Amino acid sequence: MNLCDISTVKKLMSKYGTGTKKGFGQNFLINEEVPYNIACESYNYHRQVNKNSKNAVIEIGPGIGSLTSELCRAYDKVIAVEIDKSLIPILDETLAEFDNVEVINADFLKLDLNEFLEKNLGECTISVCANLPYYITTPIIMALLENARCENGASKFTSITVMVQKEVALRLCADSKSSDYGAITASINYYGEAKKLFDVTPDNFLPAPKVTSSVVRIELYDEPKYKVQNEKMLNRVIAGAFAQRRKTLLNSLSSSFSELSKEKIAEIITRLGFDINIRGERLSIGDFCMLADEFYKESNK
Ligand code: SAM
Repeated sequence: MNLCDISTVKKLMSKYGTGTKKGFGQNFLINEEVPYNIACESYNYHRQVNKNSKNAVIEIGPGIGSLTSELCRAYDKVIAVEIDKSLIPILDETLAEFDNVEVINADFLKLDLNEFLEKNLGECTISVCANLPYYITTPIIMALLENARCENGASKFTSITVMVQKEVALRLCADSKSSDYGAITASINYYGEAKKLFDVTPDNFLPAPKVTSSVVRIELYDEPKYKVQNEKMLNRVIAGAFAQRRKTLLNSLSSSFSELSKEKIAEIITRLGFDINIRGERLSIGDFCMLADEFYKESNK
């Protein structure tokens, strides 16, 4: 069955009495080359990094299974998490030929990710691959990053290959000196490196979105390149620094850290050698790590 053929997609939807739901960000792929290419980009990198281990991939939002089936052909094991209950019987039919896939009906953002990985993928090396629902791209990527490291610092994921809106892709992959650099770019830079792979135009989807999409692969560092005492604090400092982009780092952080006085924050900024009028967007991930460690020390005094 060609799951990217428009009439097949429509027939399946009508057979199971459902339709595409805007609220769940459903734009299904209708050109079979696209899921094939995304799965290849994910798997080839995974194999390059992990030569011998049993491999697995997590897919967020399988839809009717076009990318899922390509992932099943490549990986030893596929776990697909789909929020829309009405798609589960369709997936039972479209993925029936594969015995290496498990479909879970859940909201990915509500899963306890550590418990989920432990239970489902204990001894496998894991990658993530998805055509993400655009309305929750950033929370999903942040949830993956925040749970990406084991206690010893090693990465749980080899890579995260995702299709997102092109403008989001530019932010994920931005250079720290460009205008696209933002909180999510800085957070990604702590865990790994994002690479833009290719664009996908709106005519490749049903229904067609308004904008072009891009496929990005975040390649996670196996060993931490940067180390902070507390990653939650790092992500809080990054989010705080970018919360009010037009303000100085001092003013933006003062609004986000009510537990620290403005004088204390000013003292930390100058002690670390930054100009007191610097903006958050001028800081590299190394700078954010230094700042986060100082904030962590202060918060635990
Ligand atoms: N993978 C399919 C494809 O490429 O044709 C569908 C991709 S569609 C852009 C996004 C999918 O994510 C939909 O199937 C949607 O129901 C699902 N989804 C949306 N929010 C979700 C959530 N919070 N957790 C899990 N799946 C979600």
